[in-house]
Amino acid sequence: MKIIRAKTYGVCMGVKRALELVENSIEAKPEGGVCTVGPLIHNRRVLEQLESRGVCIISGPEEVSEGAVIIRAHGIALAAQKAFRGKNIELIDGTCPKVNKSQKMAADKSAEGFHVILAGDPGHGEVVAVAGYAEECTVVSSAEDVRELELTGDTFLMCQTTFREDKFDKILEVLKDKANTAGFKVEFERTVCPATVVRQNAVKDLAAEVDAVLVIGGKTSANTTRLFHIASESGKPSWHIEGADDVPPEIIGYNTIGITAGASAPDWIVEEVEAKLHILSKGE
Ligand code: SF4
Repeated sequence: MKIIRAKTYGVCMGVKRALELVENSIEAKPEGGVCTVGPLIHNRRVLEQLESRGVCIISGPEEVSEGAVIIRAHGIALAAQKAFRGKNIELIDGTCPKVNKSQKMAADKSAEGFHVILAGDPGHGEVVAVAGYAEECTVVSSAEDVRELELTGDTFLMCQTTFREDKFDKILEVLKDKANTAGFKVEFERTVCPATVVRQNAVKDLAAEVDAVLVIGGKTSANTTRLFHIASESGKPSWHIEGADDVPPEIIGYNTIGITAGASAPDWIVEEVEAKLHILSKGE
């Protein structure tokens, strides 16, 4: 069995930074403990490790009165941030700089009078946070969603950092058609993170040279799920697994296996999966 890793895969700059902030915080042993606002990353294995080291997860300011509180890479809405700042806690901002840029863009365009349309997964932490920076924001996940909107004023289109560019283009097309008919202005910015695009292109290239693909990452991770969809669309048998325990036994039927991992899957999980593949290929 030959194993090939994607040219680019795994933990991105924003997630690495958030993990480092939590590590530093655990080492500092603050009175009142360490907690994160929402799960730090979409990875069950990493979250279990953090929990065993005493890191708790809270969902809002009302759940904490002391200690260190870390904002994850997805960020939080402006109103929640203000409420945390009013408390006697150490607030550590782990918002990814690229998400920060999106938040600022939503606020600025909103202040300029645009209705912001945010393409992304409704309910996803980053989407909720970015939408919270705009006065008026509508979250859409497809071109069909935009078709159903009643828009009359100037509109600004942006997206979740992990959004697929081809889907963004379709949404933009529908929006421009509506604008031409109704006579309003459309501006847009593809706020897709390059880390996402690079990983998506890498899995496309990987799928072309292997017989089957394993995509490693949390089942709730949006960027991992997209990598899995891209791998599946290539026509090669593909599996989305969280770790070595999920490696499908039938994988040994393929000669060349491609491995990639989402932005929230640390290297040690990738190593474990590769070790498991070697064990399976030896028939152990
Ligand atoms: S994928 Fe991009 S935007 Fe999201 S956390 Fe990583 S670096 Fe930041």
